[in-house]
Amino acid sequence: MGLISEVTPISYNDDLPERADVVVIGGGVIGVSSALCLAEAGLTVALFEKGRVAGEQSGRNWGWIRQLGRDDAEMPIMMEANRLWQGMAGRIGADVGFRAEGIIYLAESEAAYAAHEDLLDTANRHQLMVERLSRADVDGLIQGRPGFWAGGLRCPGDGRAEPWIAVPMMARALKDRGASLHENCAVRALDISAGRVSGVVTERGLVKADAVLIAGGAWTSLFLQHHGILFPQLSVRATVARTARAPNVYGGGAAYSALAFRRREDGGYTVAFTDHFDFFLGRSAFRSAFYFAKSAWASRRSIALRPAAPAGYPDAWFTQRRWGEDDISPFERMRVLHPTPTPGATERIRKRMSERLPALADTPIAESWAGMIDILPDTVPTMDSVPGFDRLWLASGFSGHGFGIGPAAGRIMADLIQGRTVEHDLTRFRFDRFTDGSSIQLGPLI
Ligand SMILES: Cc1cc2nc3c(=O)[nH]c(=O)nc-3n(C[C@H](O)[C@H](O)[C@H](O)COP(=O)(O)OP(=O)(O)OC[C@H]3O[C@@H](n4cnc5c(N)ncnc54)[C@H](O)[C@@H]3O)c2cc1C
Repeated sequence: MGLISEVTPISYNDDLPERADVVVIGGGVIGVSSALCLAEAGLTVALFEKGRVAGEQSGRNWGWIRQLGRDDAEMPIMMEANRLWQGMAGRIGADVGFRAEGIIYLAESEAAYAAHEDLLDTANRHQLMVERLSRADVDGLIQGRPGFWAGGLRCPGDGRAEPWIAVPMMARALKDRGASLHENCAVRALDISAGRVSGVVTERGLVKADAVLIAGGAWTSLFLQHHGILFPQLSVRATVARTARAPNVYGGGAAYSALAFRRREDGGYTVAFTDHFDFFLGRSAFRSAFYFAKSAWASRRSIALRPAAPAGYPDAWFTQRRWGEDDISPFERMRVLHPTPTPGATERIRKRMSERLPALADTPIAESWAGMIDILPDTVPTMDSVPGFDRLWLASGFSGHGFGIGPAAGRIMADLIQGRTVEHDLTRFRFDRFTDGSSIQLGPLI
C-alpha cells in the first residue's frame, strides 16, 4: 500500500442512511479517529469523504508521532495520543505500524542546540522523558557524517507509523463497528432547520443528524465560508520523498534545520525539507493576512511565495465560494488534493541526504509527492463547537502535526459531542480565539 490518490479504488460506498446520530465530514485521521470513538460508544455514525480515506494530509505526511516540540497545551493531549497509538493494534486488531523508536531534534551548531532549551523546558513541565545528546551521542545513534551535529534532544517514547496504512486500518475498524462510510461523496452544505444544524446535504442527498463534526483538513475554511463563518485557515505545500530500501542509519525519526528523515517499515526512509514550504496567494490569504502576520514573520525564511494556487485548490483565485445545494461543489471538483512536488525539490532532498547521511548516498529516491498542510495563525488546532451553530463541531487546523495527535483529538471530539467531561484544558483550542480580542500566541513551528 502506498500513496492514496483519486486513482485508488473506492473502498467504501455504503447506502446513504436517512439519519445518523453523528455525521463526520472528512476521512482523514481526525475524522476517522473521532468517528471510531463515537462508534465504540454505541452511536450511529456516517462518515463522508469527498475522495478517499487518507487521500490528503493523513496519507501524505512524514509519519512522525511526536511528543517532543509540542505546544504546552497540546502536550498532555499528545501524551495521551502516544498511549493510544501504543494500544492501537490491540484496539483495532490490525498492525498500524506504530514503532516507538525515538525522535531526535538535531542541532548542527551550539546556537541551534541552545535554541532547543524551550522544548526541553516544556517536556520537563509535563514529565516527558527526554534525553540530551552530545555530539558523540548523536554519532553513536545516527550513522551520519561524523561530528556534523553538535548534539540534540531525543524523546525515546516518540514513534512513527505508516500513515497510508494506519488511517485506512482505523477506517476498516470503524466500518466493523457498524458505521457507514461514504467515499467519493462530498458534503456540499449543512442542513439547518429552525436555527439548528440538523444534518448535511451530500452530493447524493440529505442525511439528518443530531450532530455534525467538520474535520475537513485544508477544505474546512472554504466549507465554513459558504455558511458565512470565518475560520482563518490557510495551507502550504510540503514536498516529501521516499528512498528505496536503504542501510539502517537510524530506526526512528530525526530532523534538523534542513532535513528530516525517518525509517519506514519497507526498509527505506521518508525524507523531506524542514526549511521549504510553498505558499500560494489567494483570496483567503489576503483576507486572513492580519491573523497570520506573526507566523508569516517567524517562518519567512522557509516560505516561498507563489502567485496563484493551481485551479481547484481551496484558495485558488477562481475556486467557487458560493454554490447551491444542487450544484456541483468545489469539493467534488477536486476529489483528492494531490499537489505536484515543488520543482527540483526531489533532487535537492537527495543531495542533502547524501551529504549528511553518506551511507545513503547511493540509495535512490523511489517516489516523491506533496501535501497541502493546513495551518492556523497560532499553529495549534481548533477543537470546539462552532459558536452560533447549535450541534456543529469542528476539529481542524492541525498545522502540520495532526497525524500524531489524531487519536486523542478524536477521543476529545467524541467526548465533547456526547456532552462528556473532557479532562484536558481546551481553552487554547477554542473556536473564537482569533476574534475575541486575545492576542495570537504562536506555538512551535514544527
Ligand atoms: C507533507 C506533510 C507532512 C506532515 N508530517 C506530519 C508528521 O510527521 N506528524 C504529524 O503529526 N503530522 C504531520 N503532518 C500533518 C498531518 O498530516 C495533518 O495535521 C493531519 O493529517 C490532518 O488530518 P485531518 O483529518 O484534519 O485532515 P486531512 O487528512 O487533510 O483530511 C481531511 C479530509 O476531509 C475531506 N473533506 C474535506 N472537505 C470535505 C467535504 N466537504 N466533504 C467530504 N469530505 C471532505 C478531504 O478530502 C480530506 O480527505 C504532515 C502533513 C503533511 C502534508
